[in-house]
Amino acid sequence: MDAHTHGRAYQAAAAVPDPEIPVVTIADLGILRDVEVEGDKAIARLTPTYSGCPAVLAIELAVETALLEAGFQPKIERVLEPAWTTDWITPAGREKLKAYGIAPPLKASNSVRALFGATAVECPRCGSVESERVSEFGSTACKALYRCMSCREPFDYFKCI
Ligand SMILES: [Zn+2]
Repeated sequence: MDAHTHGRAYQAAAAVPDPEIPVVTIADLGILRDVEVEGDKAIARLTPTYSGCPAVLAIELAVETALLEAGFQPKIERVLEPAWTTDWITPAGREKLKAYGIAPPLKASNSVRALFGATAVECPRCGSVESERVSEFGSTACKALYRCMSCREPFDYFKCI
């Protein structure tokens, strides 16, 4: 396999958008671990954000389609160890989430603290950390609904662990 072929397979898979937050790609979220090319086969390794996420199947199907369109025989492998954490979201991915109005997960957010809202969550609109959690569930199960105490705007916090 040459680097060019590998790059083409990787780029095809990496460009797949997250079905729930289409402004970020699965590479931005750190879901795409790597892509291996063997002859005309491309093996994409994905780590789901969490196993109950209904988006997982949609993502796998989209990656398969993208690799097919790039001229490869696709194969998807689920990598469950090590488990995905929000720390795998790239800096570019965090910026895109923020621009989209979703508070990006705090760096090194520990799963329990992020889930139960013990951390200060920054308002994506005004940057205030004076926020309160309104609901455990936002627009999808992966997000919690917060409200900013400064600008009074509600916003989603990406809490997938
Ligand atoms: Zn605010």
